[in-house]
Amino acid sequence: GNIEPTPLNPIVKEFVNLAYHGMRASKHPFNVDVKLQLDESIDKVTMVAEDFSRVILNLCNNAFDAMREKMMDENAQSIESYIPLLIVRTQNIGNEVAIYIEDNGPGIPEDTRDKIMQPFFTTKKGTNGTGLGLSITNDIIKAHGGTIKLNSQPGKTVFIIVLSK
Ligand code: ADP
Ligand code: MG
Repeated sequence: GNIEPTPLNPIVKEFVNLAYHGMRASKHPFNVDVKLQLDESIDKVTMVAEDFSRVILNLCNNAFDAMREKMMDENAQSIESYIPLLIVRTQNIGNEVAIYIEDNGPGIPEDTRDKIMQPFFTTKKGTNGTGLGLSITNDIIKAHGGTIKLNSQPGKTVFIIVLSK
């Protein structure tokens, strides 16, 4: 695809929805609250839309996988009161935009955080994980001159992408 100014919010919305419908159509669908908080003052961002949309899809798929894992973890306590929640937010910050993808899954353990961007690193069993999603995501964001940061604690994971307009 071409690199060109592209309206940000519609792409975010479309690919969060695509990930959601994929999860609902999967072998293990579950109920999740999805909140989109799109900053309407954002217009176009220069990007390869096809690549950026994969980033949104990858991060949302990971969030759904993490929340599913937490839901299905029979050892976890007070699981009955667990309501999976995905929050995707965009924010206009001058010449830049930030995109936050937050889930209330298990969180990423401290000793794992520096490995997750490595190609083929996965904690998913069987054939479910290739371990390539975050590696590709990182490459795409770097190719756009942007940054991706992880902020995680037990019960919460946030990926923060910053792109220049
Ligand atoms: P895959 O999804 O195929 O495992 P990724 O590169 O997308 O590969 O992710 C690598 C690993 O990072 C995952 O296996 C998982 O352990 C961890 N991870 C990624 N996103 C999350 C998240 N939102 N919550 C918890 N763990 C995550
Ligand atoms: Mg993945």
